[in-house]
Amino acid sequence: VSSLLSRCRTFKVLVIGDSGVGKTCLTHRLSAGQFPSRVEATIGVDFRERLLDVDGEKLKLQLWDTAGQERFRKSMVQHYYRNVHAVLFIYDVTCPVSFTGLSSWVEECRQNSVGQEIPRFLVGNKSDLRDPSRKEYQVSQEQAVSFAKANGMMFFETSAKNPPIKRVNGQRGNGGYQQDN
Ligand code: GDP
Ligand code: MG
Repeated sequence: VSSLLSRCRTFKVLVIGDSGVGKTCLTHRLSAGQFPSRVEATIGVDFRERLLDVDGEKLKLQLWDTAGQERFRKSMVQHYYRNVHAVLFIYDVTCPVSFTGLSSWVEECRQNSVGQEIPRFLVGNKSDLRDPSRKEYQVSQEQAVSFAKANGMMFFETSAKNPPIKRVNGQRGNGGYQQDN
């Protein structure tokens, strides 16, 4: 697998958003296929990879799991956005502050990607924690859809934790995971 990983086309995917929204858990799940049993706070940036098979062609997603700390970010930020293929803007559906906080991440992206048309995705994480009796404390899908529309993004709601993952027969390595739904 390692020689395959080094040969195939690589797509750089930047994962950004407020601290605690689940960026590390999501990238961990995408690369290792499971919710991590425990995570430490990210310092600077961590890299994880996911091998994909798209119509018979092997592609590699290189996930840049970033941290929000100002002092790391200032010197690194231009590096983050260089040659990026996609940006995932993550918020926590149970934390409205993480949703309103996205505007500064969108602004950071705008400032650092002048002249580039980067596909951008809005991702509401921790959907497993949605509680119908506490709607007013959560970010509604309607809010998210309108934010995505206003900013030219595609929108997904997801969970790094649930539903559980099943192995797909006949596939190996990181490409062999798929959500149950
Ligand atoms: P980051 O700061 O954005 O990298 O966030 P982390 O990945 O470190 O996650 C922050 C906390 O949220 C951790 O306690 C995770 O266990 C938890 N978490 C992350 N994703 C999910 C999710 O999809 N569902 C639930 N229930 N908890 C999550
Ligand atoms: Mg992190």
